Amino acid sequence: MLSRSSPPGRTVSRPEDRAGAILTVDLAAVVENWRILKKWARPGCDMGAVVKADAYGLGLEPVALALKSAGCNTFYVAHIDGAISLRQIIGPGPRIACLNGPNKGTERDHVAFSIMPVLSTPEQIKAWQTFALKEDVLVESVVQVDSGMNRLGVSEREFATLLADPDGFLGLHPQIFMSHLACADDAAHPMNKSQLERFRVSVGAFRTRFPDCKASLANSSGIWLGQDWHFEYARPGAALYGVNPTPSRANPMLPVVNLKARIIQVRLVDTPGHVGYGAAAPVREGAKLATVSMGYADGYLRSLGSSGHGVLDGIKVPVVGRVSMDLTTFDVSNVPDPATLPGGFIDVISHAVTVDDVARAASTIGYEILTALGNRFHRRYLPATSAPRV
Ligand SMILES: *Cc1c(COP(=O)(O)O)cnc(C)c1O
Repeated sequence: MLSRSSPPGRTVSRPEDRAGAILTVDLAAVVENWRILKKWARPGCDMGAVVKADAYGLGLEPVALALKSAGCNTFYVAHIDGAISLRQIIGPGPRIACLNGPNKGTERDHVAFSIMPVLSTPEQIKAWQTFALKEDVLVESVVQVDSGMNRLGVSEREFATLLADPDGFLGLHPQIFMSHLACADDAAHPMNKSQLERFRVSVGAFRTRFPDCKASLANSSGIWLGQDWHFEYARPGAALYGVNPTPSRANPMLPVVNLKARIIQVRLVDTPGHVGYGAAAPVREGAKLATVSMGYADGYLRSLGSSGHGVLDGIKVPVVGRVSMDLTTFDVSNVPDPATLPGGFIDVISHAVTVDDVARAASTIGYEILTALGNRFHRRYLPATSAPRV
């Protein structure tokens, strides 16, 4: 289908007109969330930013640049490739720690891009020492001890063995000594105090060897447990992106994400029947249904079928029937006709339907909703402003 107005190989329409849904990321809100955490934290605590998984799906480059401009000086990613991309984005200066540790063979890239590996096993520590001593390079690192989560980090027994060996940490230049909390989002959970106490013991022991090494324990929720958990470096991720770090209380963070899906058909049901695959949801005569151009391939999880909801014209509209790969149907019977037209948009994540609301309806957590957000959306970034918002 060639014509003079559509030359081959080139689009003439706007990307936002082609996309099935529009994702807006409020960078000013990300920065303000970082400031809220910084203000809440123990004075002098380095408020970093965890930007792993493409900044929780919101876009590494815009998020990291906004936070760097606000003064964030320590970034945490999961993989070396993410760390290298980040270094190219933010330039020299800010610290970058790579949480998943150094894969064998990547040592030189850590040095070349000034990336601190998080060393979590005696083998990683040994390999890193061997590299540093052989190459005679001073390379900073982070050492992680387990304090009860049994995921990453040297065990307390392995740690004691390393400490008892005068060469156990030879050649290392640890900048941060860290551990990770398992239950920080449940403030009353006894693990929080138990991990804090175990970590304190390890920090004390590590400082007999490295008196200036700083400590880090808190993720987003850990920050809200109180200043005892803050130490010198805090590592928030989810809270920066608007996920509630205190699930039993009102969200102290600002919402960051808006996702609106395009209505492509509106149907007034003229015969009672069912909606979607599996004919899983009954529908009455006279119901008004709106089908949007977004589905589970976009991260609108299939588990939201007949359980999620959106907002149209200020009115709550439930998902009806199963979520398809590229389509989702909402019951918009309660919305006046002028708002229910093809070409309109249903808010599926907004101030009124938060990431946490969507997560609850999908029986998951906000983290998974954010990191699942697809790559077909048209993405818009609201710029960070330098003035703090009130
Ligand atoms: C992901 C992660 C964080 C950030 O956690 P949030 O709950 O998103 O704040 C902090 N530390 C480590 C080790 C992590 O893996």
